[in-house]
Amino acid sequence: MKKILTYFVAFIFIFFILPAICTKTLNVSSTNEIIKQEDSSNTENEPQDNAKNSQEETPITSTYDYRQYNTIKLLHTSSGEIEELPLDEYLYGVVSAEMPASYEIEALKAQATVARTYLIYQIQNNGTKHENANICDSYACCQAWISKEDRFAKWEETQRESNWKKIVQAVNETAGKIITYDGQPINAFFHSNSGGITESSVNIWGGIEYPYLKSVETSGEEAYSQYSSEVSFTKEELVNKIKETHSDIQVDWNTENPIQIEEYTDSGRVRTIRFGNISIAGTEARTILGLRSTNFVINYQDNKIIFTVTGYGHGVGMSQTGADSLAKQGSSYEEIIKHFYTGVEITNY
Ligand SMILES: [Zn+2]
Repeated sequence: MKKILTYFVAFIFIFFILPAICTKTLNVSSTNEIIKQEDSSNTENEPQDNAKNSQEETPITSTYDYRQYNTIKLLHTSSGEIEELPLDEYLYGVVSAEMPASYEIEALKAQATVARTYLIYQIQNNGTKHENANICDSYACCQAWISKEDRFAKWEETQRESNWKKIVQAVNETAGKIITYDGQPINAFFHSNSGGITESSVNIWGGIEYPYLKSVETSGEEAYSQYSSEVSFTKEELVNKIKETHSDIQVDWNTENPIQIEEYTDSGRVRTIRFGNISIAGTEARTILGLRSTNFVINYQDNKIIFTVTGYGHGVGMSQTGADSLAKQGSSYEEIIKHFYTGVEITNY
């Protein structure tokens, strides 16, 4: 009987208690394993996430699928060669040529969006300008572009990779974005420094008045080296300069106002200026005398005529230093764009 009882206890132990203990242990260990798995999957995911993040930060190239122009044809003005390259890759070369990589990322993103818009506008409205190419690499004709190789050569070696990463980030994070007015890409003019206030396009080029290229004020522009400059001439130098295009010029330096600014634009730039017997546009005076902008005052010192110039560039559209200044004050690239271009939207193209 005792034997049977022992067998019975052993039976109970083997078939009920032991499995229960084992299952419990197993359950515990399997729970741990799940936790462990979660842990390990977390630790495994972490580097993956990091890889993903850093990939997002430093993508090799944008993969945005454009409605049109996934690749564009770029004319190299020095060689006359035409290079076909992906749209955003073209923009890496534009942003790095047009804006210092040291500028705030939101300013660089604004520049990328402006450059993309400028490109699309050129293709759609000035498509025949460069016969077999969409755009050229000259800042004076279209917008500046520089190859990665040439750009690297001009950067400090220690900053090359991080600078490039920032440029690529600015372009890729705005991939597909363009600036529109009434649903159409805008003529996205930009310049270096507005001197605190931009100019409306009609005051510079006449013709059509673009509703989005109005005069706006920006704070912080004076903090940049482009804000102020000086050019001086002797009386003879000045007359000879103007003689190149106006051979009939005569200046009597003994009169009270041998040079006189006759009219200003609403933004305070010189609209017309008179040198002796001839009166010319402020924009023409800027070109002839090599001034940085049409926002200038004239001072006399001995035999010298000094032009003190505020701002750099035509003053229309986005100011690059203004964009950086606004970014430093906390503006996003969308806010920067909407500040400089009146009534626009940012849309996917
Ligand atoms: Zn061009």
